[in-house]
Amino acid sequence: MKPFEYHRFTSTAQSIAAVADRQNAMFFAGGTTLVDLMRLDVLTPDALIDVTALGLRDIDVTDGAIVVGANVRNSELAWHPAVRDRIPALTQAVLSGATTQIRNMASVAGNFVQRTRCSYYRDTHAACNRRVPHSGCAARDGFNRGHAVLGVSEHCIATHPSDMGVAAALVDAEIRTIKPDGTSRAIAIHAFYPLPGETPHVETVLERGELITHVAFPTAPLARYSYYLKVRDRASYEFALASAAVAIAVDEGRVTHARLAVGGVATRPWRCFDAEQALVGRPATEPSFREAAEVALTGAVAHHHNAFKIELAKRTIVRAFARVTEVVR
Ligand code: SF4
Repeated sequence: MKPFEYHRFTSTAQSIAAVADRQNAMFFAGGTTLVDLMRLDVLTPDALIDVTALGLRDIDVTDGAIVVGANVRNSELAWHPAVRDRIPALTQAVLSGATTQIRNMASVAGNFVQRTRCSYYRDTHAACNRRVPHSGCAARDGFNRGHAVLGVSEHCIATHPSDMGVAAALVDAEIRTIKPDGTSRAIAIHAFYPLPGETPHVETVLERGELITHVAFPTAPLARYSYYLKVRDRASYEFALASAAVAIAVDEGRVTHARLAVGGVATRPWRCFDAEQALVGRPATEPSFREAAEVALTGAVAHHHNAFKIELAKRTIVRAFARVTEVVR
């Protein structure tokens, strides 16, 4: 591991300046991904700026949203009574990720900026446009069983690894930040992650030194009837092959509102607006869910080892909607 400076401030402005004023400094909270990647020499910051003394540990429940401090631990978020009651898919998504020990350390903000699990990204001997711009993509012709089928480009096909992010996409979460000039902004989750395109190394729209302070999860009535289903190779400590976060409202057997986001198959948490529209007015039955799933996977692009994910994602969507519909009928 490359030597680095370590600083821990109690001032937000000082922390932000410490990252903004250096070429290669990073914020540090739980460290559950960052330290791994530093040990592998994938990330080589000159300085880590520990933000855990800045507070940002509150969970505020308002009429319209649950506003979560950046340093809230994943476990604290998942088990909060308001989250369990008002956005069950968020609790289910967070508890499906990693292990208890990691969830107890990992911060909410860190979850949104975690790096892909593409094995070539984590291997400094492999070509990887995301790690080293314009170096190539070993995954395209390599072992790409776990890779994305939605949102891919010829330069990167890595999946976004977050489960929490998929539930966040479902409810239109908003990421709140402070920039080095002292201004703050709120970034819609759908605008937070650029598609890889020709620049997969640009993973978020955050500017250098811009600090996530909170994440707001809106609590629309529909979110009470939400559900997260994750399909993976083993039951714990594993990333999704496919996942679906769904929410539905049904009146006299017909869908009046629906939401759908998928994970494990896309380069970012993937909201399926067209599939939602396709469901409205349809009977809340498996054939309708199957039609919506077909719409959701329209445009999917498979590579040598991951074609199975297209059908798997469709079946995951159907099962998730069928399951949540049992509750709302
Ligand atoms: Fe790198 Fe993306 Fe290719 Fe993986 S898929 S090797 S992260 S460029």
